[in-house]
Amino acid sequence: MSAPVDRTVVWPFDDAGEPGAYFYARYAHPTGVAAEAALGALEGGDAVLFASGMAAETAVLLAFTETGTTVAVAEGCYYGTSTLLRALSKFGVNLIEFDQTGPPPAEATIVWVESPANPTLSMPNWEAVTSTDALLVCDATLSTPVYLQALDEGADIVVHSATKYLTGHHDALLGVTVTRDPEKTAALQQARTLYGGAASADTAYSLLRGLDTLETRMLRQTTTATELAARLEAHPAVAKVRYPGFAGVIAFDVDDPRRVETSLATIRNSTSLGGVTSSIESRHRWEGDRIPTGLLRLSVGLEDVELLWGDLKAALAN
Ligand code: PLP
Repeated sequence: MSAPVDRTVVWPFDDAGEPGAYFYARYAHPTGVAAEAALGALEGGDAVLFASGMAAETAVLLAFTETGTTVAVAEGCYYGTSTLLRALSKFGVNLIEFDQTGPPPAEATIVWVESPANPTLSMPNWEAVTSTDALLVCDATLSTPVYLQALDEGADIVVHSATKYLTGHHDALLGVTVTRDPEKTAALQQARTLYGGAASADTAYSLLRGLDTLETRMLRQTTTATELAARLEAHPAVAKVRYPGFAGVIAFDVDDPRRVETSLATIRNSTSLGGVTSSIESRHRWEGDRIPTGLLRLSVGLEDVELLWGDLKAALAN
């Protein structure tokens, strides 16, 4: 049975004039609460839904930074995260980028890792990144709870762009945080309420629908991506392949990424990742010299592996 989508925004107070569990949808709504319960069960914590992954990140930073806070962010992780932190410098929040395969800088009171980093696909060294008292945030968008229980690894807060694998169909913009500490959950809910980044009932429903097929999609995308990564590795036009061994994102380097991305027929030349249809893009257009010039990020969907390989092979031969 699918969960009902309840688009109600305002609920009446009870007979004594008191607000009940639901009174105004920016605080909470039943479809959102159902989706939070489903994802929280997979992550082993309490989930809070947001209007996008960036809204979830903003809530974490609003709730847990103050003037003078230093946030250490993994190098090569999602471009928007470091860009957001740079924007917060006007409020006195400092950013340091660090190599997440080793220990974070001692002065950081928040450490932000990404497992794996998008698009460089580096992985955090959990022993090293949990070696300080800093609040540890892990963006687990590319792993999903199918491949990572970041709270068990020592993260205090997990963040997802649920726009990607969790909803899985390139048709919902959604974010989520998960923690095991009721005080942190309350702080995140309060940040959501105050700055207004609540998710809609429709996108919360997309999460419930996506979770039904999450494991099946992730397993199939892993099988296909593992095969494609091996074939790309052996291809003479490919200089370097990065693939963590699970999930559907591969980053590989070619001489002319714009030519390759525009020569594909099945694989869509678009941004984003984690959908049922494959997509590819040169990340240099967004990130500049932060990442290798030739890097292409391929997100493998559910298409047949031979169809995808035929497309890649023809584009690489061009
Ligand atoms: N984190 C990661 C790893 C991402 O890839 C993205 C988006 O690409 C985000 C966060 C931001 O999510 P959203 O686009 O849902 O705001």
